[in-house]
Amino acid sequence: MMNTAIILAGGVGSRMGVDRPKQFLMVEDKPIISYCFDIFQKHDEIDAMVVVVSEQWQGFVEEYAAKYGVSKICGYAPAGKTRQHSIYNGLKCIAENAPDTDIVIVHDAARPLVSDRIISDCITGAAEYDGAMPVITVKDTVYQSADGAKIDCLLKRSELFAGQAPESFKFKKYYQIHNEVSDEEIGATAGSSEIAYRHGMEIRMVKGSERNLKITTIEDLETFETILKGGN
Ligand code: C5P
Repeated sequence: MMNTAIILAGGVGSRMGVDRPKQFLMVEDKPIISYCFDIFQKHDEIDAMVVVVSEQWQGFVEEYAAKYGVSKICGYAPAGKTRQHSIYNGLKCIAENAPDTDIVIVHDAARPLVSDRIISDCITGAAEYDGAMPVITVKDTVYQSADGAKIDCLLKRSELFAGQAPESFKFKKYYQIHNEVSDEEIGATAGSSEIAYRHGMEIRMVKGSERNLKITTIEDLETFETILKGGN
C-alpha cells in the first residue's frame, strides 16, 4: 500500500500581523513547517510527500528539504485560492508524480505537533473505510444561531466533535470527486472531509489530541513554544 502525504503550506496571509505566513515563522531556530516534515519523514507508513506552497516560498522549502534530508518530497504544487483548491492542486501533483498512491493524508503545515499514532490511525481508518479524520470532543456548549444574536437551535454536546488534521482518504475516490465537482463547490468546502462526506464517502472519526493544535493566533504560537520547552 502506498501512502502519500499532502503538506499544505499555501496559505499566504497571516492573521497574526507578522511578516510572513505562519508556517514559515521560526520557532527554536526551525521554521514551523519543518516540525511536520520531520514527523512525516520519519514515519514508516508514509512513502512520499507533496508540498503545496506559493511560488514565492517554494525555494525556501526546497532549500530546507535539501539541507535537512527531507527526501520523501516527490513534488510541489502551487497554492490554490482556498485551502480546498490547494488540496486539489496537491491531488493533481500526486496523480502525476505518485500515481500508485492508495491513501492520501492531508496535513496542515501549521500543525507541528501531530503524533505518529494519529497519522497511523488515519491511514488505517482510510484503508478500512473511505476516509478518516482525527477529532476531539467539544468542551464548551455550542449553540446554533443564524443571526448571531438569538439562539435558534440547541445542539447535543455529546454528539459534537471538532475536526483536526491530517484527514486521510482513498486517493482515487477522493481525486475523482474533485475532478467531477464544480469550482464553486470546491471553494465552498470548509474541512477536507466535507466534500468527501457529501459525495458518499464513509468517513471514520479517530481520536485526535489537544496537543495537535493548529497555529492561528499569537496565543497558539506561545502554547506551541511552551510545549516545546516541556511545559503543558
Ligand atoms: O488558514 P488555515 O489556518 O485554515 O490554513 C490551514 C493550512 O492550509 C495552513 O497550513 C495553510 O498554509 C494551508 N492553506 C493552503 N492554501 C490556502 C489556504 C490555506 O495551503 N489557500
